Amino acid sequence: MGLTYRSVGHGAADTSTAACRRSPADRVIALAGNPNVGKSTIFNQLTGMHQHTGNWPGKTVACAQGFCRTDACEYLLVDLPGTYSLLAHSAEEQVARDFLCFGGADATIVVCDATCLERNCNLVLQIREICDRVIVCVNLMDEAARKGISIDLSLLSQRLGVPVVGTSATDPHSLATLLAALDRLFTTEKQPLLSLPYPPDILQAVAGLSETVADLTGRPDISLFLSLRLLGSDEELKDKISGNIPDTPALRDARVSAQQTLAACGIDAAAYEEAIASTIVRQAEILCCDAVHTSRADTGDRDRRIDRVLTGKFSAFPIMLALLVFIFFLTVTVANIPSSWLSYGFALAEDGLDRLFAAWGAPLWLHGILVTGVFRVTGWVVSVMLPPMAIFFPLFTLLEDIGYLPRVAYNLDRPFRRCSACGKQALTMCMGFGCNAAGVVGCRIIDSPRERKLALLTNAFVPCNGRFPTLLTLIGIFFVGTGIGLSSSLASAAFLTLFVLLSVAMTFLATWLLSRTLLHGEPSSFTLELPPYRRPRVLQILIRSVFDRTLFVLLRAVAVAAPAGAVIWILSNTYIDGISLLARAAAFLDPFAVLLGLDGVILLAFLLGFPANEIVLPIVLMAYTAGGALSDTGSAADLYAILSANGWSAVTALSFLLFSLFHWPCSTTLLTIRKETGRLRDVFLAAALPTAFGLLLCFSVHSVAFLFGL
Ligand code: GDP
Repeated sequence: MGLTYRSVGHGAADTSTAACRRSPADRVIALAGNPNVGKSTIFNQLTGMHQHTGNWPGKTVACAQGFCRTDACEYLLVDLPGTYSLLAHSAEEQVARDFLCFGGADATIVVCDATCLERNCNLVLQIREICDRVIVCVNLMDEAARKGISIDLSLLSQRLGVPVVGTSATDPHSLATLLAALDRLFTTEKQPLLSLPYPPDILQAVAGLSETVADLTGRPDISLFLSLRLLGSDEELKDKISGNIPDTPALRDARVSAQQTLAACGIDAAAYEEAIASTIVRQAEILCCDAVHTSRADTGDRDRRIDRVLTGKFSAFPIMLALLVFIFFLTVTVANIPSSWLSYGFALAEDGLDRLFAAWGAPLWLHGILVTGVFRVTGWVVSVMLPPMAIFFPLFTLLEDIGYLPRVAYNLDRPFRRCSACGKQALTMCMGFGCNAAGVVGCRIIDSPRERKLALLTNAFVPCNGRFPTLLTLIGIFFVGTGIGLSSSLASAAFLTLFVLLSVAMTFLATWLLSRTLLHGEPSSFTLELPPYRRPRVLQILIRSVFDRTLFVLLRAVAVAAPAGAVIWILSNTYIDGISLLARAAAFLDPFAVLLGLDGVILLAFLLGFPANEIVLPIVLMAYTAGGALSDTGSAADLYAILSANGWSAVTALSFLLFSLFHWPCSTTLLTIRKETGRLRDVFLAAALPTAFGLLLCFSVHSVAFLFGL
């Protein structure tokens, strides 16, 4: 069709609802829709960005913005969190609703799921009430075709009075049609807004208020929509609307008068909400009547059969456990090999650098900072972290794309309820496995503020990718042995699973404690949609998880590790009275650290590793080898030699692992908590809680070991 488009530049994910144009000519396009209909996939395809996609509702919690250029125009696309309706309930739905109502988008693309179009049309209709440039994008056409569903797009377009385009977001070519429609949209007249046939009593009651709102805002087009919401029970929306409308006595009077008229007609708050919602639902039904045809009844039998096993009373937990062990087993087995290649490569490169610096006659301190400091620590981080992440992330993403994660949340709902929390916390924990800061932001999917806070304060109890490699390495060298083989990989996977289960158990305990003390309350009811199982796109998963996640996390770790390496080298080579600064600091911490089964160096490494957990073990090694007695630390055997030469036993390793699991979250996570809750008290709690658990566990292990003379 001759249309070309290219993604330009990269925007950002944000909670703010302001569109950041690069030039006044940019056209702002909101991408709205129900959760899990492919908005982020479309956004990524068009902008070249890497928003989180996955087969479960609720993963997009903030607005992301990115640019896309066609021959005709440059568009600023805003990917909104999924929302079922503009009568928003959860925090992320409010973000979407606020942008649609007040974000000033030039046009809106409403993405719908072709396999359940009627339900999606509820949102389409509400958006048509307030937006005068709309395209309806019926996505997942491939899945609909597989289920025998055909859709008459032109009939829909005729009924709605807007362009309707069918797409399969995973196929980039089908999106060209969408962009062509977008270009055409700005060459045609604005679309007249839709007026839904609300009950006459309600329309009559709201008429006066609507006129006042039109006068005050200068927007007669959306004054009915705003007035209907001003009379609803959504207080947040009312505040938001009030913030955008001058709060005059005339407005207050008109509102009171409308409320009185409603009361006189016997319409109370519940009846009012019901009347508004059922009008929309009825219209969606009429809209889709004859436009959607199903050639064979898709009873969802296949999904239900799978669910009976994956969420069954007796099978759910064994399967979750088996999957966890399997993922760790694959990670351990495959990661060992590239890990040893990488560390060998880095050791060779370090030799080369040594020779280069010697040939240049570079001063020792410069060689120390750059090679022994920056290069070596970076090398450790890369060779230890990269392989397990490059294997773990794709496997995890595969489960996410198939649609397994919401099933985990469903399975864990009951234990979470026992702790007066909700099963969605399991989803935020899954995000925490990748990165605790992402897990904290992900807590927005939990509607109840109390339960959201429970999830947010306990997210750092699950080990993020910054801690996994450390766990793997120490388990390997202290508890399983350094051999490479099936049995040692299985043993490593089993140990790792045990530690992860411990972290999950402690999450439950901490959640239970909080809900019995500071965050007292009953568990709220919530609906968790179980998405259909989808065939994963293996190639995209591989690319996405390696480039978007693995390399992103790795680069962040390296960015922290490189300067940390230089600082550690300086600290360990700056002497006062013959004792290095590092040794002094470690000696100061030592008396306290030994009570925890650690030593001063380890505790110092945890303190210095505050910016990023992945640098804790490298700092320990750096501190132990700073004197230069041991230079090659690449292989597991060398690591074992260094650690045992510095007094490490299995008890030290166990204490290290426990403290690694349970201590203060990294600085990024704490900053994110501050941003999410706006309260320093929560930041303090989020840091103090896991640290208290860690101190208690380490002290107990040390005491038991001491009693048994270990
Ligand atoms: P969002 O929540 O609306 O942003 O949805 P996502 O973009 O995260 O997509 C949800 C899931 O649907 C992901 O697993 C996507 O890979 C998948 N998906 C999105 N669009 C399509 C499509 O057109 N066809 C198929 N088969 N899968 C799709």
